[in-house]
Amino acid sequence: MGTKAPGIATGAVGIRVSGIEKYFEGTTAANGARALRGVDLAIQPGELVALLGPSGSGKTTLLRIIAGLEFATAGNVFFGAEDATHLTVQQRRVGFVFQHYALFKHLSVADNIAYGLNVRPRAERPSSAIIKQRVADLIDLVQLSDLGGRYPAQLSGGQRQRVALARALAVEPRVLLLDEPFGALDAKVRKDLRRWLRDIHDRTGHTTVFVTHDQDEALELADRVAILNNGRIEQVGTPDDIYENPASPFVLSFLGDTVSLPVDVRERGVWLAGDRLDVDASGAEDGRADLFLRPNEVFLTGPEVGIPGIIVSLRRTVSGRRAEVRVALSDTLIEVDVPSEFSPAVNDRVGLVLKKARLFSAP
Ligand code: ADP
Repeated sequence: MGTKAPGIATGAVGIRVSGIEKYFEGTTAANGARALRGVDLAIQPGELVALLGPSGSGKTTLLRIIAGLEFATAGNVFFGAEDATHLTVQQRRVGFVFQHYALFKHLSVADNIAYGLNVRPRAERPSSAIIKQRVADLIDLVQLSDLGGRYPAQLSGGQRQRVALARALAVEPRVLLLDEPFGALDAKVRKDLRRWLRDIHDRTGHTTVFVTHDQDEALELADRVAILNNGRIEQVGTPDDIYENPASPFVLSFLGDTVSLPVDVRERGVWLAGDRLDVDASGAEDGRADLFLRPNEVFLTGPEVGIPGIIVSLRRTVSGRRAEVRVALSDTLIEVDVPSEFSPAVNDRVGLVLKKARLFSAP
């Protein structure tokens, strides 16, 4: 962790959720509309964890339960050693940033940032000199120097989210909770703010939970990523870990393009129709399975080697060329990257050499 920013106290605590279940009113276990189903997650003090999953997987509900904006049907939330399950939002001392900037339109940037301190009861409120200094430090931290006197309408979307973060930090939260904070911004600004947020996190050291449905954002930003699917955590790990060792076909296919080939596992080998493939079958049970491949983990070459196929179509993408190949043995279509030195044409016979493949038993 880098140098702490001046004037920014952290007091970071870990967060642990245990056995969290959430039914919304009018839904029951029977109709399958449970938003969360037995979620356990431990976040270390100072860690930045992304909750990643498709829309409706339960990310926001979990974040709101951690915040105290929503209460779990069952299970517990701990902040450090303290059982926070029944504490209010105020008692939990969390900083929150939402997708849609909730800045006060009639207050300047500086007054927006100071708001949470100014509304404290007199006995708990810092002196106006301290508030002023703290606001100045935060404006520097979020790189909005010279803009303290502006109003929200005079800022870009990215700048407003910087103000929202400064405002969340002003009250010295024990944890920082961000719900798709860059979701409404365009791709370039999102990318810049990602790096900026990571940098701020490294300087201030807040325990941070970040909700996103954007895989790149989660992998680039987080220390660890928790992947949610249908109210459950499917896998938690470092970005490298979940990308290299996905625990399920869901995680694998959620993290980027994949293709799969139907195979059989027998005699400690992996078989595609009558051909034994050069794939490690250790740990796999005998029976039907799917072999998952990423387009960049298949080497497309001449027909003398590898799994035989025929080029069905070719197209260009921003990162290179892609070929759609019909795998003759299984009559399956798969997409693979075309190496720059290779120029196949439609209907050419080719070979597919698997650089890496992941085997999962068929459902
Ligand atoms: P995500 O953030 O991953 O998109 P949510 O946590 O918002 O998912 O939602 C999870 C599930 O809970 C969804 O099926 C959603 O429709 C449902 N849900 C969320 N909020 C409510 C609510 N206030 N009332 C009823 N159902 C809700």
